[in-house]
Amino acid sequence: MAKKGYSTQPKKSDLKAKENSKNNKRQAHNNMVENRQKKPQFVPKFPLIYVDGMTVSEISEVTKRSIPDIIKELMKLGVLASQNQSIDSDTAELLADAFGIEFKIDESKDLTNFEKIEIEDDPKDLVSRPPVVTIMGHVDHGKTTLLDTIRSSRIASTEAGGITQAIGAYQVKRNDKLITFIDTPGHAAFTEMRARGAQVTDIVVLVVAADDGVMPQTKEAIDHANASKCPIIVAVNKCDKAQANPDRCMQELSELGILPEDWGGDVPFVKISALRGTNVPLLLDTIQLVAEMEEYKANPNREAIGYVIESKLDKNKGPQATLLIKNGTLHVSDYLMVGNTWGKIKAMYDDMGRLVKEAGPSTPVSIMGLQDVPQAGDKFMVLNDERKVRKIAEARKEKSKLKSIESKTIISLDSYSRDKDETPELKLLVKADTSGSAEALKASLEKLSVEGAKLSIIRASVGQVTENDVLLAQASKAVVIAFNVASLSNVKDLAKLKGIEIRNYNIIYKCLEDIEAAMKGMLSPVYEDVNCGEARVLEVYKASKVGTIAGCMVDSGFVRRGAMVQVLRDGVQVYKSTVSSLKRYKDDAKEVKAGFDCGLTITNYNDIKIGDVLIFSITEEVSQDEN
Ligand code: GDP
Repeated sequence: MAKKGYSTQPKKSDLKAKENSKNNKRQAHNNMVENRQKKPQFVPKFPLIYVDGMTVSEISEVTKRSIPDIIKELMKLGVLASQNQSIDSDTAELLADAFGIEFKIDESKDLTNFEKIEIEDDPKDLVSRPPVVTIMGHVDHGKTTLLDTIRSSRIASTEAGGITQAIGAYQVKRNDKLITFIDTPGHAAFTEMRARGAQVTDIVVLVVAADDGVMPQTKEAIDHANASKCPIIVAVNKCDKAQANPDRCMQELSELGILPEDWGGDVPFVKISALRGTNVPLLLDTIQLVAEMEEYKANPNREAIGYVIESKLDKNKGPQATLLIKNGTLHVSDYLMVGNTWGKIKAMYDDMGRLVKEAGPSTPVSIMGLQDVPQAGDKFMVLNDERKVRKIAEARKEKSKLKSIESKTIISLDSYSRDKDETPELKLLVKADTSGSAEALKASLEKLSVEGAKLSIIRASVGQVTENDVLLAQASKAVVIAFNVASLSNVKDLAKLKGIEIRNYNIIYKCLEDIEAAMKGMLSPVYEDVNCGEARVLEVYKASKVGTIAGCMVDSGFVRRGAMVQVLRDGVQVYKSTVSSLKRYKDDAKEVKAGFDCGLTITNYNDIKIGDVLIFSITEEVSQDEN
C-alpha cells in the first residue's frame, strides 16, 4: 500500500522488500507447519508392521502418516518413490527409524521366511489324508526287509511289474486307503529332517527282532519318537524264528515306558515276520487304526506346501527332488520356492515312476524343473507368481549367506537363561561314563526344582557323545552334558556347526550348580576346561632321562606345553595328566598346531602306546555360548 505524497509507482527496492517479506512469511508458515509436524504429540505412533512388497500408500495406511510425508522422508534417504511403489524391508526400517516409530516384520506374511507361514484352513475344507510312517529300530532287526515286503506287495497288486524308481518314499493301498512310507530306514534321516524343522513323519513303526530284544538303537529310536511326539507302533519281528521270544521284547520295552496295549498300555504291538510277510497286513491295519484315531487331515484345494525328502543332480535331467506334500495339491507348471532355490515344475513322477499331473496331501513325488538342488528337509511352498518367486529365492539366498557368516551357538545354557520366555523348558541330553553315573546324574537333575522353569532329560545314556546325540540335541533344542566322557573332534565340529553346546563335567555337584543357575537365569561366565586339540601317537621312544616320548601327529586344534591331556586307548580314558614337555624336531615348542608332528612327554606317565589318542584341554574363561 502506497502512502500519501509518495509515488504510486512502486520502486524497485519496494518490490524487493515486498518479495522478501512474502518469502519470509512463506518461510515462517513452512516453519510453523514443519514445527507442528515435528511436535511428537500431534503425531500418533503407529508401528510400521512391514509386509513383503509393501507400497508407499500401504505404509501410509498402517503408520497413519501422509503419503507426501513418507515420500519426503524417503527422498531424504535417497529413495525416489511414487505412492504405488514397493519399498523393501531395509528401506522401510530406515523410514520407521526416521519417524521414530517401531518397526516389525509381519512374519506371518513374510514370504522370504515362508517356513514360518501357517495358512490356517477352514475346518470345512479339511479331508482326511494318508498317514506318513517312518520305520526305525536297531540294525539288522529287519527294517529294510519290512519296507521291501510292503513295497513288493504293492508292485504285485498294481501290475506295474517293470522297473520302479526308488524316490525315497512310497505309498501302499490297504482297505482302499493309502499309507505313505518314508523309504529310508533308521533314525539318522528322521532326526536330520526334524532338526531342520521338517516334521514329516506322523507315526513311527519300531521294529524289534524277537530273537534279539531291545538293543541300543532301539532305545535311541524310542528317544527320537518320543521327542517328536509321534505315536509308536511296535513290530515284533522275526517271530518265525525258533529262538523268537516276543514276550521278552514286550517286557524289555515296558521297562522303557513302551507299554503294550495287551498289558493295559497304549502302544499297539504286532508280532510279524517281515521275511515271510506274516501279519504284515495286520501291521498295516494297525497303522490305519492309529491314523484314524489321530485324524490326520489336510486341505487338497490350496497351493501345496511340504518337504524335500531327498534330492540329486541328474546329469541329463538337472536338479531332481522328491517332495512329500504336507498340505494342498501340487500341479505340473506350478511355481515353487524351496530352500534357497525355486523352480517351475516341468514334469512330475509318482513313486512308481509314472508321469502325473497333480499330487495331493501325503503323496511323494519326484519333480523336475528346479533351478538348483535343494536339501533334504527343506520346506517348499507353491506361489504361482514367477517374478515374486524369483525375487524371494534371491533374497533367501542372500539371507542364508549372511546367516552362515553369523552362525554361532544357539542352544546353550546361557541362551536358555537369557531367553526365558522363548525357552521355558531346559532340555538336556546326558552322556556319562557308566550307567551308575548316568542314572545318578539324571536323578539329581530331575530333583532340581526352580519355580517357573522346567527341566527335561531327553536321553541319559552311557558312552562318548556321538554325532547322533548332537543331531537329537539339535532336533530337540537340548544342551549336551558330557559327564566324564570325551567327545571326538568330528562330534565337536558337528556340534559347533549345528549350534549345540556340549558341556563337560566330572563333578556332579558342579553340573547341578550350573544347571540350577541356568534355570534361575543367573548363569555367569565360568572357568572351564576347554578341549583345544587332538593328536595320535605314531611312534614311541624311550629316553633314559625324560621317560617315554610320544611322537605324535596333531590332528586338530593345537597342543600346548602345560595343557591337560587325556590318554584314550580304544576310546577309553586310561590316564589324565599334563603335557610336561613339547618339542618340534629338536627345539622346545610352546605350541604345535594341527597338521604338524611333535614329540611330547606326559607328566608321571610312561606307558604311552602307538595308536593312543591324546585329547588336550586348557582352562579358559568361557562365555557360555562359545563352547
Ligand atoms: P535292518 O538293518 O534293520 O534294515 O535289517 P534287514 O532288513 O537288513 O535284515 C537283517 C537280516 O535279518 C537279513 O538277513 C534279513 O533277511 C533278516 N530278517 C529280516 N526280517 C526277518 C524275519 O522276519 N525273519 C527272519 N528269519 N529273518 C529276517
